[in-house]
Amino acid sequence: MVRRIAIRYTGFRECPNCKGRGHDGAVWRPSPCRRCAGRGRLITGVEVEDSVWGKLPRFAYDFNAKGEVFLLDLDESEQFEVVRPENPWC
Ligand SMILES: [Zn+2]
Repeated sequence: MVRRIAIRYTGFRECPNCKGRGHDGAVWRPSPCRRCAGRGRLITGVEVEDSVWGKLPRFAYDFNAKGEVFLLDLDESEQFEVVRPENPWC
């Protein structure tokens, strides 16, 4: 059985750079906000569930505001599958 790491986003906040609009260009030439990649929201909370160990403690992973999750202390040689939410921005 392949180990599965399921990621769930539990917290969001409005992007302060674009004020949630997703772009920070001029009205006639909107350009996607770089801070939130055009989504208007930043990730503030993440939950990671491991099919082997259950819910991972906060120190076992790290994440950034774009929703990228980094697992610490993970054996790279081990096979595992990462399950991301289909639409994390809801
Ligand atoms: Zn933004």
